[in-house]
Amino acid sequence: MRAYGYGDGSGSSSAGGAAAPFISRRGADLRYSSYDVLVVGGGIAGLTAALGAAHRWNVGLITKGSLDQTTTFLAQGGIAAAMSPHDSPKLHLKDTLEAGVGLCDDEAVRVLVEEGPARIRELEQLGTKFDRREGKLILGKEGAHSMARVVHAGGDATGSVVASSLAEVITKGGRVELHENEFVIDLLMDGGRCVGAVSLGAEGELTVSLARAVVLACGGAGQVYSRTTNPLMATGDGHAMAYRAGAVMRDMEFMQFHPTAYYGKENPTLLVTEALRGEGAYLLDDAGCRFMVGAHPQAELAPRDVVVRHMRRVCDRDGSEHVWLDARHLDAAFLRERFPTVLNGLKKRGFDLCGQLIPVAPASHYFIGGVLTDTWGRSTVPGLYACGETSSTGIHGANRLASNSLLEGLVFGERTVRELNRYLAVADPAVRKVRLDLADEVREGNAPGAVAEGRATVQRTMTDLCGVVRNAPELTRAQETLAALQASLAAPGLSVAELELFNLLTVAEHMVAAALLREESRGVHLRSDFPERDDAGWRRHSLIHRDLETGGLVVEAGPVAD
Ligand SMILES: Cc1cc2nc3c(=O)[nH]c(=O)nc-3n(C[C@H](O)[C@H](O)[C@H](O)COP(=O)(O)OP(=O)(O)OC[C@H]3O[C@@H](n4cnc5c(N)ncnc54)[C@H](O)[C@@H]3O)c2cc1C
Repeated sequence: MRAYGYGDGSGSSSAGGAAAPFISRRGADLRYSSYDVLVVGGGIAGLTAALGAAHRWNVGLITKGSLDQTTTFLAQGGIAAAMSPHDSPKLHLKDTLEAGVGLCDDEAVRVLVEEGPARIRELEQLGTKFDRREGKLILGKEGAHSMARVVHAGGDATGSVVASSLAEVITKGGRVELHENEFVIDLLMDGGRCVGAVSLGAEGELTVSLARAVVLACGGAGQVYSRTTNPLMATGDGHAMAYRAGAVMRDMEFMQFHPTAYYGKENPTLLVTEALRGEGAYLLDDAGCRFMVGAHPQAELAPRDVVVRHMRRVCDRDGSEHVWLDARHLDAAFLRERFPTVLNGLKKRGFDLCGQLIPVAPASHYFIGGVLTDTWGRSTVPGLYACGETSSTGIHGANRLASNSLLEGLVFGERTVRELNRYLAVADPAVRKVRLDLADEVREGNAPGAVAEGRATVQRTMTDLCGVVRNAPELTRAQETLAALQASLAAPGLSVAELELFNLLTVAEHMVAAALLREESRGVHLRSDFPERDDAGWRRHSLIHRDLETGGLVVEAGPVAD
Protein backbone atom coordinates (compact mmCIF):
# COMPACT_ATOMS: atom_id res chain seq x y z
CA MET A 1 0.00 0.00 0.00
CA ARG A 2 2.97 2.31 0.60
CA ALA A 3 3.40 2.16 -3.17
CA TYR A 4 0.74 4.84 -3.43
CA GLY A 5 2.97 7.43 -1.75
CA TYR A 6 1.76 10.31 0.38
CA GLY A 7 1.50 13.78 -1.13
CA ASP A 8 3.16 16.72 0.61
CA GLY A 9 1.92 19.26 -1.86
CA SER A 10 5.28 19.76 -3.52
CA GLY A 11 4.69 17.60 -6.55
CA SER A 12 1.73 16.52 -8.53
CA SER A 13 0.29 13.06 -8.53
CA SER A 14 -0.58 11.10 -11.61
CA ALA A 15 -4.12 12.18 -10.98
CA GLY A 16 -5.33 14.66 -13.55
CA GLY A 17 -9.00 15.14 -12.74
CA ALA A 18 -11.04 18.08 -13.89
CA ALA A 19 -11.37 20.90 -11.40
CA ALA A 20 -14.34 20.44 -9.07
CA PRO A 21 -16.34 18.24 -11.43
CA PHE A 22 -19.31 18.06 -9.11
CA ILE A 23 -20.44 21.65 -9.39
CA SER A 24 -22.62 23.57 -11.78
CA ARG A 25 -22.60 27.35 -11.73
CA ARG A 26 -26.34 27.80 -12.09
CA GLY A 27 -25.71 31.42 -12.88
CA ALA A 28 -24.37 32.12 -9.37
CA ASP A 29 -21.61 34.67 -8.97
CA LEU A 30 -18.36 33.34 -7.63
CA ARG A 31 -16.69 34.85 -4.59
CA TYR A 32 -13.01 34.22 -4.02
CA SER A 33 -10.99 34.01 -0.82
CA SER A 34 -7.53 32.64 -0.16
CA TYR A 35 -5.69 31.05 2.75
CA ASP A 36 -2.49 29.24 3.55
CA VAL A 37 -4.58 26.49 5.13
CA LEU A 38 -8.23 25.69 4.59
CA VAL A 39 -9.74 23.36 7.21
CA VAL A 40 -13.06 21.74 6.38
CA GLY A 41 -14.82 20.64 9.57
CA GLY A 42 -15.22 22.05 13.08
CA GLY A 43 -15.24 18.91 15.26
CA ILE A 44 -12.36 17.96 17.52
CA ALA A 45 -10.01 17.20 14.62
CA GLY A 46 -10.74 20.33 12.58
CA LEU A 47 -10.71 22.67 15.59
CA THR A 48 -7.38 21.21 16.74
CA ALA A 49 -5.85 21.56 13.29
CA ALA A 50 -7.19 25.08 12.72
CA LEU A 51 -6.12 26.33 16.13
CA GLY A 52 -2.62 24.93 15.78
CA ALA A 53 -2.11 26.10 12.21
CA ALA A 54 -3.30 29.61 13.05
CA HIS A 55 -0.20 30.20 15.18
CA ARG A 56 1.75 30.60 11.94
CA TRP A 57 -0.59 30.67 9.00
CA ASN A 58 -3.61 32.38 7.58
CA VAL A 59 -6.34 29.82 8.24
CA GLY A 60 -9.93 29.48 7.02
CA LEU A 61 -12.33 27.06 8.77
CA ILE A 62 -15.57 26.01 7.09
CA THR A 63 -18.33 23.96 8.70
CA LYS A 64 -21.62 22.98 7.16
CA GLY A 65 -23.55 23.58 10.38
CA SER A 66 -22.71 25.58 13.47
CA LEU A 67 -19.87 24.53 15.75
CA ASP A 68 -22.27 22.75 18.12
CA GLN A 69 -23.69 20.56 15.34
CA THR A 70 -20.86 18.04 15.22
CA THR A 71 -20.43 14.44 16.26
CA THR A 72 -17.79 15.64 18.68
CA PHE A 73 -20.45 17.64 20.48
CA LEU A 74 -22.44 14.45 21.17
CA ALA A 75 -19.57 12.38 22.57
CA GLN A 76 -20.41 11.01 25.98
CA GLY A 77 -17.95 8.52 27.47
CA GLY A 78 -14.70 10.44 27.19
CA ILE A 79 -11.15 10.27 25.89
CA ALA A 80 -8.87 7.29 26.46
CA ALA A 81 -5.27 8.03 27.48
CA ALA A 82 -2.71 6.58 29.87
CA MET A 83 -3.02 9.32 32.50
CA SER A 84 -2.87 7.17 35.65
CA PRO A 85 0.44 6.27 37.33
CA HIS A 86 -0.75 2.64 37.20
CA ASP A 87 -1.27 2.81 33.45
CA SER A 88 1.19 3.15 30.56
CA PRO A 89 1.10 3.85 26.80
CA LYS A 90 2.33 0.27 26.38
CA LEU A 91 -0.82 -1.13 28.01
CA HIS A 92 -3.02 1.23 25.99
CA LEU A 93 -1.19 0.07 22.85
CA LYS A 94 -1.76 -3.58 23.74
CA ASP A 95 -5.50 -3.07 24.31
CA THR A 96 -5.88 -1.10 21.07
CA LEU A 97 -4.05 -3.72 19.02
CA GLU A 98 -6.10 -6.54 20.54
CA ALA A 99 -9.39 -4.78 19.87
CA GLY A 100 -8.28 -4.07 16.26
CA VAL A 101 -8.12 -7.82 15.45
CA GLY A 102 -4.81 -7.86 13.58
CA LEU A 103 -5.37 -4.91 11.29
CA CYS A 104 -4.05 -1.93 13.28
CA ASP A 105 -1.03 -0.05 12.01
CA ASP A 106 1.31 -0.56 15.00
CA GLU A 107 3.29 2.62 14.37
CA ALA A 108 0.16 4.77 14.17
CA VAL A 109 -1.15 3.25 17.42
CA ARG A 110 2.22 3.85 19.11
CA VAL A 111 2.02 7.51 18.09
CA LEU A 112 -1.57 7.74 19.37
CA VAL A 113 -0.94 6.30 22.82
CA GLU A 114 2.42 7.99 23.41
CA GLU A 115 1.33 11.49 22.34
CA GLY A 116 -2.21 11.26 23.78
CA PRO A 117 -1.47 12.23 27.40
CA ALA A 118 0.32 15.46 26.33
CA ARG A 119 -2.69 16.45 24.19
CA ILE A 120 -5.05 15.91 27.15
CA ARG A 121 -2.87 18.14 29.34
CA GLU A 122 -2.88 20.82 26.62
CA LEU A 123 -6.68 20.68 26.49
CA GLU A 124 -6.74 21.32 30.23
CA GLN A 125 -4.39 24.28 29.77
CA LEU A 126 -6.80 25.65 27.14
CA GLY A 127 -9.58 25.58 29.73
CA THR A 128 -11.28 22.18 29.38
CA LYS A 129 -12.40 21.04 32.81
CA PHE A 130 -12.18 17.26 33.05
CA ASP A 131 -13.93 15.64 36.00
CA ARG A 132 -11.67 15.36 39.04
CA ARG A 133 -12.07 14.12 42.61
CA GLU A 134 -9.74 15.50 45.27
CA GLY A 135 -7.66 17.00 42.49
CA LYS A 136 -7.18 13.71 40.63
CA LEU A 137 -8.67 12.91 37.24
CA ILE A 138 -11.59 10.51 37.52
CA LEU A 139 -10.98 7.70 35.04
CA GLY A 140 -13.81 5.64 33.56
CA LYS A 141 -13.64 2.08 32.28
CA GLU A 142 -14.99 1.01 28.90
CA GLY A 143 -15.13 -2.12 26.78
CA ALA A 144 -11.86 -3.98 26.02
CA HIS A 145 -9.73 -1.59 28.11
CA SER A 146 -7.69 -3.53 30.66
CA MET A 147 -8.05 -0.68 33.12
CA ALA A 148 -9.90 2.54 33.83
CA ARG A 149 -8.31 5.18 31.54
CA VAL A 150 -11.10 7.30 30.09
CA VAL A 151 -11.07 10.97 31.14
CA HIS A 152 -14.44 12.66 30.97
CA ALA A 153 -16.09 16.01 31.53
CA GLY A 154 -19.49 17.09 32.82
CA GLY A 155 -20.12 13.42 33.70
CA ASP A 156 -21.15 12.13 30.29
CA ALA A 157 -20.98 15.45 28.41
CA THR A 158 -17.33 15.16 27.38
CA GLY A 159 -17.79 16.10 23.73
CA SER A 160 -19.72 19.30 24.33
CA VAL A 161 -17.32 20.43 27.08
CA VAL A 162 -14.23 19.78 24.93
CA ALA A 163 -15.73 21.22 21.74
CA SER A 164 -16.97 24.32 23.56
CA SER A 165 -13.58 25.07 25.04
CA LEU A 166 -11.85 24.66 21.67
CA ALA A 167 -14.55 26.70 19.90
CA GLU A 168 -14.26 29.48 22.46
CA VAL A 169 -10.54 29.85 21.78
CA ILE A 170 -11.19 29.86 18.04
CA THR A 171 -14.00 32.41 18.09
CA LYS A 172 -12.42 34.72 20.68
CA GLY A 173 -8.87 34.40 19.38
CA GLY A 174 -9.78 35.98 16.05
CA ARG A 175 -6.93 34.22 14.26
CA VAL A 176 -9.08 31.75 12.34
CA GLU A 177 -11.53 32.98 9.70
CA LEU A 178 -14.60 30.96 10.60
CA HIS A 179 -17.45 30.26 8.15
CA GLU A 180 -20.33 28.32 9.68
CA ASN A 181 -23.36 27.05 7.73
CA GLU A 182 -21.26 26.84 4.58
CA PHE A 183 -21.38 23.52 2.71
CA VAL A 184 -18.18 22.47 0.96
CA ILE A 185 -19.25 20.83 -2.29
CA ASP A 186 -15.98 19.72 -3.73
CA LEU A 187 -12.22 20.05 -3.66
CA LEU A 188 -10.53 22.20 -6.22
CA MET A 189 -7.88 20.35 -8.17
CA ASP A 190 -5.13 21.70 -10.41
CA GLY A 191 -2.74 19.33 -12.14
CA GLY A 192 -3.44 16.58 -9.64
CA ARG A 193 -2.88 18.83 -6.66
CA CYS A 194 -5.54 20.04 -4.23
CA VAL A 195 -5.57 23.84 -4.26
CA GLY A 196 -8.74 24.69 -2.36
CA ALA A 197 -12.44 23.97 -2.24
CA VAL A 198 -15.74 25.31 -3.49
CA SER A 199 -18.59 25.88 -1.08
CA LEU A 200 -22.25 26.77 -1.07
CA GLY A 201 -23.46 29.47 1.32
CA ALA A 202 -26.81 29.71 3.05
CA GLU A 203 -28.08 32.19 0.43
CA GLY A 204 -27.05 29.98 -2.48
CA GLU A 205 -23.82 31.84 -3.23
CA LEU A 206 -20.70 29.94 -4.32
CA THR A 207 -17.30 30.66 -2.76
CA VAL A 208 -13.99 29.50 -4.19
CA SER A 209 -11.50 29.18 -1.31
CA LEU A 210 -7.99 28.89 -2.68
CA ALA A 211 -5.46 27.39 -0.28
CA ARG A 212 -1.88 26.15 -0.21
CA ALA A 213 -3.11 23.13 1.76
CA VAL A 214 -6.54 21.71 2.56
CA VAL A 215 -7.33 19.66 5.69
CA LEU A 216 -10.43 17.47 5.54
CA ALA A 217 -11.93 16.87 9.00
CA CYS A 218 -15.54 16.23 8.01
CA GLY A 219 -16.33 13.43 10.48
CA GLY A 220 -18.05 10.15 9.63
CA ALA A 221 -20.90 8.68 7.64
CA GLY A 222 -23.28 7.04 10.12
CA GLN A 223 -26.25 8.49 8.19
CA VAL A 224 -25.70 5.83 5.54
CA TYR A 225 -27.84 3.67 7.90
CA SER A 226 -31.37 4.23 9.20
CA ARG A 227 -30.43 3.49 12.81
CA THR A 228 -27.50 5.62 13.85
CA THR A 229 -26.14 7.58 16.78
CA ASN A 230 -24.56 10.06 14.35
CA PRO A 231 -26.04 13.52 13.77
CA LEU A 232 -27.84 14.31 10.51
CA MET A 233 -24.72 16.00 9.14
CA ALA A 234 -22.66 12.77 9.17
CA THR A 235 -23.10 12.04 5.47
CA GLY A 236 -19.54 11.14 4.48
CA ASP A 237 -18.96 14.37 2.54
CA GLY A 238 -15.23 14.36 3.29
CA HIS A 239 -14.89 10.74 2.20
CA ALA A 240 -16.79 11.35 -1.04
CA MET A 241 -14.93 14.57 -1.90
CA ALA A 242 -11.54 12.99 -1.32
CA TYR A 243 -12.51 10.03 -3.49
CA ARG A 244 -13.64 12.31 -6.32
CA ALA A 245 -10.29 14.10 -6.06
CA GLY A 246 -8.46 10.81 -6.57
CA ALA A 247 -7.47 9.98 -2.96
CA VAL A 248 -7.07 6.35 -1.91
CA MET A 249 -9.71 5.20 0.59
CA ARG A 250 -9.02 2.36 3.02
CA ASP A 251 -11.11 -0.23 4.90
CA MET A 252 -14.50 1.10 3.80
CA GLU A 253 -16.23 -2.15 4.86
CA PHE A 254 -15.62 -1.39 8.54
CA MET A 255 -18.54 0.47 10.12
CA GLN A 256 -18.64 0.04 13.87
CA PHE A 257 -22.11 -0.54 15.31
CA HIS A 258 -22.49 0.54 18.93
CA PRO A 259 -24.22 -2.17 20.98
CA THR A 260 -26.25 0.06 23.25
CA ALA A 261 -28.22 2.68 21.37
CA TYR A 262 -31.70 3.34 22.72
CA TYR A 263 -34.17 1.23 20.74
CA GLY A 264 -36.40 3.83 19.11
CA LYS A 265 -37.33 4.85 15.61
CA GLU A 266 -35.79 8.31 15.73
CA ASN A 267 -32.81 9.42 13.64
CA PRO A 268 -30.36 9.95 15.19
CA THR A 269 -31.04 7.70 18.11
CA LEU A 270 -29.79 8.29 21.65
CA LEU A 271 -26.54 6.60 22.61
CA VAL A 272 -26.51 4.91 26.00
CA THR A 273 -22.81 5.18 26.73
CA GLU A 274 -20.60 2.15 27.24
CA ALA A 275 -19.26 3.87 30.38
CA LEU A 276 -22.51 2.75 32.04
CA ARG A 277 -21.48 -0.86 31.52
CA GLY A 278 -18.04 0.21 32.75
CA GLU A 279 -19.72 1.23 36.02
CA GLY A 280 -21.46 -2.14 36.28
CA ALA A 281 -24.66 -2.02 34.20
CA TYR A 282 -25.78 -5.38 32.76
CA LEU A 283 -27.10 -6.56 29.43
CA LEU A 284 -30.12 -8.85 29.78
CA ASP A 285 -32.15 -10.97 27.38
CA ASP A 286 -35.95 -11.13 27.49
CA ALA A 287 -35.77 -13.76 30.24
CA GLY A 288 -33.63 -11.44 32.38
CA CYS A 289 -30.38 -13.45 31.91
CA ARG A 290 -26.99 -11.77 31.54
CA PHE A 291 -26.13 -13.33 28.18
CA MET A 292 -22.58 -11.92 28.01
CA VAL A 293 -21.51 -13.80 31.14
CA GLY A 294 -19.78 -16.92 29.88
CA ALA A 295 -19.79 -15.57 26.32
CA HIS A 296 -16.57 -13.58 26.86
CA PRO A 297 -14.14 -13.21 29.80
CA GLN A 298 -14.93 -9.47 30.01
CA ALA A 299 -18.70 -10.14 29.87
CA GLU A 300 -20.55 -6.84 29.13
CA LEU A 301 -17.18 -5.11 28.65
CA ALA A 302 -16.05 -7.33 25.78
CA PRO A 303 -15.01 -5.48 22.61
CA ARG A 304 -17.95 -3.86 20.82
CA ASP A 305 -17.91 -6.21 17.85
CA VAL A 306 -18.16 -9.20 20.20
CA VAL A 307 -21.05 -7.71 22.19
CA VAL A 308 -22.94 -6.83 18.99
CA ARG A 309 -22.48 -10.36 17.66
CA HIS A 310 -23.93 -11.88 20.85
CA MET A 311 -26.81 -9.41 20.92
CA ARG A 312 -27.63 -10.45 17.40
CA ARG A 313 -27.55 -14.14 18.38
CA VAL A 314 -29.84 -13.52 21.36
CA CYS A 315 -32.31 -11.44 19.32
CA ASP A 316 -32.46 -14.11 16.58
CA ARG A 317 -33.03 -16.79 19.23
CA ASP A 318 -35.73 -14.83 21.09
CA GLY A 319 -37.38 -13.29 18.01
CA SER A 320 -36.73 -9.87 19.51
CA GLU A 321 -35.40 -6.62 18.04
CA HIS A 322 -33.58 -5.44 21.16
CA VAL A 323 -32.08 -6.52 24.47
CA TRP A 324 -32.22 -4.69 27.81
CA LEU A 325 -29.73 -2.54 29.68
CA ASP A 326 -30.08 -2.83 33.43
CA ALA A 327 -28.64 -0.14 35.73
CA ARG A 328 -31.25 -0.56 38.47
CA HIS A 329 -28.76 -2.04 40.92
CA LEU A 330 -26.44 0.99 40.68
CA ASP A 331 -26.63 3.90 43.10
CA ALA A 332 -29.21 6.39 41.79
CA ALA A 333 -27.39 9.48 43.11
CA PHE A 334 -24.20 8.31 41.41
CA LEU A 335 -26.04 7.70 38.11
CA ARG A 336 -27.55 11.19 38.23
CA GLU A 337 -24.17 12.81 38.77
CA ARG A 338 -22.15 10.68 36.35
CA PHE A 339 -24.65 10.24 33.49
CA PRO A 340 -26.88 13.35 33.32
CA THR A 341 -27.03 13.36 29.49
CA VAL A 342 -28.18 9.75 29.21
CA LEU A 343 -30.53 10.05 32.18
CA ASN A 344 -32.26 13.15 30.77
CA GLY A 345 -32.33 11.76 27.22
CA LEU A 346 -34.06 8.62 28.44
CA LYS A 347 -36.43 10.59 30.64
CA LYS A 348 -37.58 12.53 27.56
CA ARG A 349 -38.37 9.18 25.99
CA GLY A 350 -40.35 8.03 29.03
CA PHE A 351 -37.69 5.83 30.68
CA ASP A 352 -36.13 6.02 34.14
CA LEU A 353 -32.55 4.73 34.02
CA CYS A 354 -32.47 4.26 37.80
CA GLY A 355 -35.65 2.22 38.04
CA GLN A 356 -36.43 0.63 34.67
CA LEU A 357 -34.88 -1.68 32.09
CA ILE A 358 -33.83 0.24 28.96
CA PRO A 359 -34.39 -1.34 25.51
CA VAL A 360 -31.17 -1.13 23.48
CA ALA A 361 -30.07 -2.33 20.04
CA PRO A 362 -27.03 -1.76 17.82
CA ALA A 363 -26.80 1.39 15.69
CA SER A 364 -24.15 2.58 13.25
CA HIS A 365 -21.75 4.66 15.28
CA TYR A 366 -18.19 5.07 14.06
CA PHE A 367 -16.83 4.81 10.51
CA ILE A 368 -13.44 3.15 10.59
CA GLY A 369 -12.98 3.43 6.83
CA GLY A 370 -11.60 6.66 5.47
CA VAL A 371 -9.06 8.66 3.53
CA LEU A 372 -5.75 6.81 3.69
CA THR A 373 -3.19 8.96 5.51
CA ASP A 374 0.24 8.52 7.00
CA THR A 375 0.85 9.47 10.63
CA TRP A 376 1.29 13.13 9.59
CA GLY A 377 -2.18 13.50 8.07
CA ARG A 378 -0.93 13.36 4.48
CA SER A 379 -3.34 11.75 2.03
CA THR A 380 -2.20 10.29 -1.29
CA VAL A 381 -3.19 13.52 -3.07
CA PRO A 382 -0.65 16.36 -2.94
CA GLY A 383 -1.94 19.32 -0.94
CA LEU A 384 -4.71 17.28 0.71
CA TYR A 385 -4.57 16.26 4.38
CA ALA A 386 -7.15 14.44 6.50
CA CYS A 387 -7.65 13.87 10.21
CA GLY A 388 -10.32 12.66 12.64
CA GLU A 389 -13.07 10.27 11.57
CA THR A 390 -12.67 11.19 7.89
CA SER A 391 -9.18 9.69 7.85
CA SER A 392 -7.88 6.16 8.01
CA THR A 393 -4.67 6.37 10.03
CA GLY A 394 -4.79 2.66 10.80
CA ILE A 395 -5.25 3.02 14.57
CA HIS A 396 -8.60 1.24 14.72
CA GLY A 397 -7.82 -1.87 12.70
CA ALA A 398 -11.01 -3.83 12.20
CA ASN A 399 -12.67 -2.67 15.41
CA ARG A 400 -12.19 0.64 17.22
CA LEU A 401 -11.33 0.56 20.90
CA ALA A 402 -13.84 2.68 22.83
CA SER A 403 -12.91 6.35 23.37
CA ASN A 404 -9.93 6.24 21.04
CA SER A 405 -11.54 8.47 18.41
CA LEU A 406 -11.62 11.79 20.24
CA LEU A 407 -7.99 11.04 21.05
CA GLU A 408 -7.31 10.38 17.38
CA GLY A 409 -8.73 13.80 16.45
CA LEU A 410 -6.49 15.50 19.00
CA VAL A 411 -3.29 13.60 18.25
CA PHE A 412 -3.48 13.52 14.47
CA GLY A 413 -5.00 17.02 14.23
CA GLU A 414 -1.90 18.29 16.02
CA ARG A 415 0.49 16.18 13.93
CA THR A 416 -1.12 17.49 10.76
CA VAL A 417 -0.23 20.99 11.97
CA ARG A 418 3.39 19.99 12.53
CA GLU A 419 3.52 18.58 9.00
CA LEU A 420 1.92 21.74 7.57
CA ASN A 421 4.50 23.85 9.40
CA ARG A 422 7.27 21.86 7.78
CA TYR A 423 5.76 21.92 4.32
CA LEU A 424 4.46 25.49 4.19
CA ALA A 425 7.76 26.88 5.48
CA VAL A 426 9.59 25.65 2.38
CA ALA A 427 6.85 25.62 -0.25
CA ASP A 428 6.05 28.37 -2.72
CA PRO A 429 4.28 31.00 -0.57
CA ALA A 430 1.84 31.97 -3.34
CA VAL A 431 -1.63 30.48 -3.41
CA ARG A 432 -2.16 28.95 -6.83
CA LYS A 433 -4.60 31.05 -8.77
CA VAL A 434 -6.73 28.71 -10.77
CA ARG A 435 -9.55 29.46 -13.11
CA LEU A 436 -12.61 27.54 -12.14
CA ASP A 437 -14.37 26.19 -15.18
CA LEU A 438 -17.92 25.58 -14.17
CA ALA A 439 -20.54 24.36 -16.51
CA ASP A 440 -22.79 27.31 -17.23
CA GLU A 441 -25.69 24.99 -17.77
CA VAL A 442 -28.55 25.50 -15.36
CA ARG A 443 -29.14 22.13 -13.77
CA GLU A 444 -32.65 21.41 -12.62
CA GLY A 445 -31.41 18.83 -10.16
CA ASN A 446 -33.88 16.51 -8.45
CA ALA A 447 -37.18 17.31 -6.76
CA PRO A 448 -37.02 17.51 -2.92
CA GLY A 449 -39.38 14.52 -2.62
CA ALA A 450 -37.13 12.36 -4.80
CA VAL A 451 -34.10 13.44 -2.78
CA ALA A 452 -35.73 12.54 0.55
CA GLU A 453 -36.89 9.20 -0.88
CA GLY A 454 -33.38 8.61 -2.25
CA ARG A 455 -31.80 9.16 1.18
CA ALA A 456 -34.33 6.77 2.74
CA THR A 457 -33.56 4.18 0.05
CA VAL A 458 -29.82 4.34 0.75
CA GLN A 459 -30.43 3.99 4.49
CA ARG A 460 -32.91 1.12 4.10
CA THR A 461 -30.72 -0.72 1.62
CA MET A 462 -27.62 -0.47 3.77
CA THR A 463 -29.47 -1.43 6.96
CA ASP A 464 -31.16 -4.45 5.38
CA LEU A 465 -28.39 -5.67 3.09
CA CYS A 466 -25.05 -4.39 4.42
CA GLY A 467 -25.70 -4.20 8.17
CA VAL A 468 -24.17 -6.00 11.13
CA VAL A 469 -24.13 -9.32 9.21
CA ARG A 470 -23.48 -9.46 5.46
CA ASN A 471 -23.33 -12.08 2.71
CA ALA A 472 -22.64 -12.10 -1.01
CA PRO A 473 -26.24 -12.41 -2.34
CA GLU A 474 -27.46 -9.53 -0.15
CA LEU A 475 -24.44 -7.35 -0.90
CA THR A 476 -25.00 -7.94 -4.61
CA ARG A 477 -28.63 -6.88 -4.22
CA ALA A 478 -27.47 -3.78 -2.36
CA GLN A 479 -25.12 -2.97 -5.22
CA GLU A 480 -27.94 -3.31 -7.73
CA THR A 481 -30.33 -1.16 -5.69
CA LEU A 482 -27.75 1.60 -5.21
CA ALA A 483 -26.86 1.54 -8.91
CA ALA A 484 -30.54 1.76 -9.87
CA LEU A 485 -31.02 4.71 -7.54
CA GLN A 486 -27.98 6.43 -8.98
CA ALA A 487 -29.27 5.88 -12.51
CA SER A 488 -32.68 7.29 -11.61
CA LEU A 489 -31.24 10.60 -10.40
CA ALA A 490 -30.41 13.62 -12.51
CA ALA A 491 -27.04 15.33 -11.92
CA PRO A 492 -27.23 17.23 -8.63
CA GLY A 493 -28.24 20.85 -8.51
CA LEU A 494 -27.11 23.26 -5.82
CA SER A 495 -29.00 22.07 -2.75
CA VAL A 496 -27.37 20.65 0.36
CA ALA A 497 -29.85 17.78 0.66
CA GLU A 498 -29.11 16.71 -2.89
CA LEU A 499 -25.36 16.99 -2.57
CA GLU A 500 -25.51 14.99 0.67
CA LEU A 501 -27.51 12.28 -1.06
CA PHE A 502 -24.86 11.91 -3.76
CA ASN A 503 -22.15 11.73 -1.08
CA LEU A 504 -24.12 9.10 0.87
CA LEU A 505 -24.52 7.10 -2.32
CA THR A 506 -20.79 7.24 -3.01
CA VAL A 507 -19.87 6.09 0.49
CA ALA A 508 -22.53 3.35 0.47
CA GLU A 509 -21.20 2.09 -2.85
CA HIS A 510 -17.69 1.92 -1.35
CA MET A 511 -18.88 0.12 1.77
CA VAL A 512 -20.68 -2.53 -0.25
CA ALA A 513 -17.80 -3.03 -2.70
CA ALA A 514 -15.27 -3.43 0.12
CA ALA A 515 -17.62 -5.70 2.10
CA LEU A 516 -17.97 -7.96 -0.94
CA LEU A 517 -14.22 -8.06 -1.41
CA ARG A 518 -13.40 -9.12 2.18
CA GLU A 519 -14.33 -12.80 2.17
CA GLU A 520 -13.86 -13.44 5.88
CA SER A 521 -15.27 -12.25 9.23
CA ARG A 522 -13.07 -9.90 11.23
CA GLY A 523 -13.89 -7.27 13.83
CA VAL A 524 -16.97 -5.29 12.85
CA HIS A 525 -17.24 -7.04 9.47
CA LEU A 526 -19.32 -10.23 9.77
CA ARG A 527 -19.94 -12.36 6.68
CA SER A 528 -22.46 -15.16 7.25
CA ASP A 529 -21.04 -16.89 4.14
CA PHE A 530 -17.43 -16.53 5.39
CA PRO A 531 -17.88 -16.80 9.16
CA GLU A 532 -14.22 -17.43 10.05
CA ARG A 533 -11.33 -15.03 10.37
CA ASP A 534 -8.79 -15.79 7.64
CA ASP A 535 -5.35 -14.44 8.59
CA ALA A 536 -3.57 -16.15 5.72
CA GLY A 537 -5.77 -14.54 3.08
CA TRP A 538 -7.09 -11.38 4.70
CA ARG A 539 -4.72 -9.77 7.17
CA ARG A 540 -4.70 -6.94 4.69
CA HIS A 541 -6.59 -3.75 4.03
CA SER A 542 -9.11 -3.07 1.32
CA LEU A 543 -8.28 -0.08 -0.87
CA ILE A 544 -10.54 1.93 -3.13
CA HIS A 545 -9.81 4.75 -5.54
CA ARG A 546 -11.37 6.39 -8.53
CA ASP A 547 -9.81 5.74 -11.89
CA LEU A 548 -9.43 9.34 -12.99
CA GLU A 549 -9.45 8.46 -16.68
CA THR A 550 -12.54 6.29 -16.76
CA GLY A 551 -14.21 7.59 -13.59
CA GLY A 552 -14.67 3.95 -12.53
CA LEU A 553 -14.35 2.52 -9.04
CA VAL A 554 -11.20 0.47 -8.40
CA VAL A 555 -11.41 -1.94 -5.44
CA GLU A 556 -8.43 -4.03 -4.42
CA ALA A 557 -6.84 -5.85 -1.53
CA GLY A 558 -3.66 -4.20 -0.26
CA PRO A 559 -0.50 -6.01 0.75
CA VAL A 560 -0.42 -8.10 3.94
CA ALA A 561 -0.58 -5.75 6.97
CA ASP A 562 2.69 -4.94 8.79
C1 LIG B 1 -23.31 9.79 20.25
C2 LIG B 1 -21.83 9.60 20.09
C3 LIG B 1 -21.03 9.47 21.20
C4 LIG B 1 -19.65 9.30 21.06
N1 LIG B 1 -18.87 9.20 22.17
C5 LIG B 1 -17.52 9.12 22.03
C6 LIG B 1 -16.67 9.11 23.18
O1 LIG B 1 -17.13 9.18 24.31
N2 LIG B 1 -15.34 9.02 22.98
C7 LIG B 1 -14.78 8.95 21.73
O2 LIG B 1 -13.55 8.88 21.61
N3 LIG B 1 -15.58 8.97 20.63
C8 LIG B 1 -16.91 9.07 20.75
N4 LIG B 1 -17.69 9.10 19.63
C9 LIG B 1 -17.04 9.21 18.31
C10 LIG B 1 -16.47 10.64 18.18
O3 LIG B 1 -17.37 11.54 18.76
C11 LIG B 1 -16.22 11.04 16.73
O4 LIG B 1 -15.50 10.03 16.07
C12 LIG B 1 -15.43 12.33 16.66
O5 LIG B 1 -16.07 13.33 17.43
C13 LIG B 1 -15.27 12.80 15.23
O6 LIG B 1 -14.66 14.06 15.26
P1 LIG B 1 -14.29 14.78 13.90
O7 LIG B 1 -13.61 16.05 14.27
O8 LIG B 1 -13.57 13.84 13.03
O9 LIG B 1 -15.70 15.08 13.19
P2 LIG B 1 -17.05 15.75 13.70
O10 LIG B 1 -17.03 16.07 15.13
O11 LIG B 1 -18.15 14.91 13.22
O12 LIG B 1 -17.08 17.11 12.89
C14 LIG B 1 -17.25 17.11 11.49
C15 LIG B 1 -17.26 18.55 10.99
O13 LIG B 1 -17.20 18.54 9.57
C16 LIG B 1 -18.13 19.46 9.07
N5 LIG B 1 -18.51 19.04 7.71
C17 LIG B 1 -18.88 17.81 7.29
N6 LIG B 1 -19.16 17.85 5.97
C18 LIG B 1 -18.97 19.12 5.57
C19 LIG B 1 -19.12 19.80 4.35
N7 LIG B 1 -19.55 19.18 3.23
N8 LIG B 1 -18.85 21.11 4.30
C20 LIG B 1 -18.45 21.79 5.40
N9 LIG B 1 -18.29 21.19 6.60
C21 LIG B 1 -18.55 19.89 6.67
C22 LIG B 1 -19.28 19.44 10.06
O14 LIG B 1 -20.05 20.60 9.94
C23 LIG B 1 -18.49 19.34 11.36
O15 LIG B 1 -18.11 20.64 11.76
C24 LIG B 1 -19.07 9.24 19.76
C25 LIG B 1 -19.88 9.35 18.64
C26 LIG B 1 -21.26 9.53 18.79
C27 LIG B 1 -22.10 9.63 17.57
